[in-house]
Amino acid sequence: MPKILRINTRTKEYSFEEVGPYANLGGRALTSRVINKEVPADCHPLSAENKLVFATGLLGGSTAANSGRVSVGTKSPLTGGIKESNSGGLFAHKMPKMDLLAIVLEDKPAEQAPFSTIFITDGKVVFKDATEIVGMDNYPAHDVLLEEYGPKLCAAMIGPAGETVRQTATIQFTDPYKRPARSAGRGGTGAVMGSKKVKAIVLDPEFAEKVSASDKDAFKTARSTWVDILKGHPVTAEGLPGFGTCVLVNVINEAGALPGKNFRQGQVDHAADISGEKIAELIEARGGKTTEGCHAGCIIQCSQQYNDKDGNYLSSGFEYETVWAFGANAMIKDIDHIAMLDRICDEKGMDTIEIGNTVAIAMDGGIIPWGDGEAAIELISKVGSDDPMGMIIGNGVTFAGGAFGVERLPVVKNQSMPAYDPRAVKGVGVTYATTAMGADHTAGYGVTANVLGVGGTVDGHKKEGNVELSKNLQVATAAIDSMGFCLFVAFAVLDSDNGVQTMADLVQSWTGNSFTADDLVNLGVGAMKDEQEFNKRAGFTKMDDKLPRFFETDALPPHNVVWDYDEDELQGAKV
Ligand code: SF4
Repeated sequence: MPKILRINTRTKEYSFEEVGPYANLGGRALTSRVINKEVPADCHPLSAENKLVFATGLLGGSTAANSGRVSVGTKSPLTGGIKESNSGGLFAHKMPKMDLLAIVLEDKPAEQAPFSTIFITDGKVVFKDATEIVGMDNYPAHDVLLEEYGPKLCAAMIGPAGETVRQTATIQFTDPYKRPARSAGRGGTGAVMGSKKVKAIVLDPEFAEKVSASDKDAFKTARSTWVDILKGHPVTAEGLPGFGTCVLVNVINEAGALPGKNFRQGQVDHAADISGEKIAELIEARGGKTTEGCHAGCIIQCSQQYNDKDGNYLSSGFEYETVWAFGANAMIKDIDHIAMLDRICDEKGMDTIEIGNTVAIAMDGGIIPWGDGEAAIELISKVGSDDPMGMIIGNGVTFAGGAFGVERLPVVKNQSMPAYDPRAVKGVGVTYATTAMGADHTAGYGVTANVLGVGGTVDGHKKEGNVELSKNLQVATAAIDSMGFCLFVAFAVLDSDNGVQTMADLVQSWTGNSFTADDLVNLGVGAMKDEQEFNKRAGFTKMDDKLPRFFETDALPPHNVVWDYDEDELQGAKV
C-alpha cells in the first residue's frame, strides 16, 4: 500500500506513514483534504505552518491513457486561499513505483539556512546542499541535476522566482525529454517550496518497483475502451494533436471572446499571426515537433517543440494561455518574442498566465509600450533578481497594479484571469468567480458548451444555464484532477455515453476498491467541499466570489456583452 512521506524541512526528519484517514483519495482530493485538515486556514502561506503536498492520482503508476498528472496543494501566497495546481512530467507515474502516494513538506528552516535538494530513495530521504544550483535558471540547473543523477532524472524544482518567494512562482517538473518544461503553474506553489528552502526534489532514478492492476483483465478491458473513447472524438483525436491548445486562438477570437489589451476587446486583428495554425507552420519549417506528450501514456499529445529561427530548441508546452496572455492581452504580435517570453517563464519558474497579465498591467500603467515584445522580455527577465521592478512583476497583477497605479485588474481572489473573457463566455466566468482557486479556467471549463458545442450547447452571452453548467463542470473537473487524468480527456467524456463509467471501471480495476460512477462524482464533490471549507475559515465570503466591477460597466466589443450576475445567484455554482 503506497505511503505518505512526511518531511520536516527544518529538522530534516522524515517518516513513511500509512494513508490512514486519507485512504481512497488521490490527486487533488488528497491534497485539498490534507491542506484543509492540517494547515491553519489563517496562517501566512510562507510560514512554517503551511504545508506543500505532492500527490499522485488514483490512477498514478497505471497505463491508463492520460493519467499521469501530479497535484500540488498548499495555501496559496497569491490568493490566500487553498490551491491545487497540477502538472504533467514524470513525477506522478514514478511516485507509486516508489511506494509513494504523497510527499508532504512541512515546517521551514531558519531564514539564513542554505537551500537543499531532497533526494528520495527506497525508505530513505537525504538532504543535499543545493548551493551549486541556487540562483540558476531552471534549464541549466536541471542540466546539473542530469549530470549528477543521469538520464532517468525525475525532478521537481523551483527557479529564481521561487527562491525569492514571488507570488507567481511555479514548480517545474522533468518531462519525458529531459527538460524542466512542465509546471504546476498557478497560485505561487513555487514560493511555498522556496520558503521551505527546497530547491529541488529528486526521486531516485534507479529505484522503481513493478506496479500492476488489482484486476488485470478488467483493467485491460477498461483501458482499451478508454483509448477508443479518446481516439473517437475530433478534439482529442485531431484538433489538439494537430495544432496544440493554440488551435483555440482563431476559434476564441472568432467567437469575440479573446481578451485583448487588458480585457478591453474580444478580438485582436493579429490573431492569425499567433494562431495554432501559424505556430504549426513555423514548427514544421524549423524542424521542431508539432505533437508530443507531457507524460508517458498521453495519447492526445497536445504539446510540441518550438524551435527558434536558427532551428534551436526554444520552448515546449507552448500553450494557448501563454500565447494569449502575451500575444493578445499584451498585444505582442511577434510569435518568436512570445516563445521567448514563455521560455523565460520556464527558466525563472513563473506562471505564464499571471506574468502575461502583469506585463499587460505594466503596459496599461505606461511602464513599457503596448505590444513591445523586447521591452517585455527585458522586464520579466528581472524577476528573481534584487531589482525592485523584478520584485513587483514577480508578484503578479494585483501587486503590480498597486505599484503602477492601474485600476483595471482582471482578477478574482487576486489571481488573474485566463484567456476567455467572462462577459462572452459566462460559463467559464461563473467558474472564475466561484471556484476556491481564484480565476481559473481549468476548474470548470464552460468554454465546452458556450463555444465548442461539446457536451451540449449553452449560450455564453446569456445567464441562463451557466451557473448549472459551471457547477457540473467544477465537480467533474475535481474528480478528473483526483484520478490524475489530464483535463483534456473531458472533451471526449462529455460527448460519450460510457466515458464516466469507463473512468470508474479503470479506478476500480486498478486499485481493487469498489468505485462506481457515483463514487467518482462524490470524489469531486468532496474535494470542492474541502476547498470551500478551508477558504471560509480563511475569511472568504460571497463578496470574494465576484468579478471586478469593470466587467459589469464596460461592454465587450464586438458583441457588446456585460457581466450581469449578482453574488447570490453565483452561490448556486458551489457544492
Ligand atoms: S493532452 Fe497535452 S496536457 Fe494532456 S497529457 Fe497530453 S500533452 Fe499533457
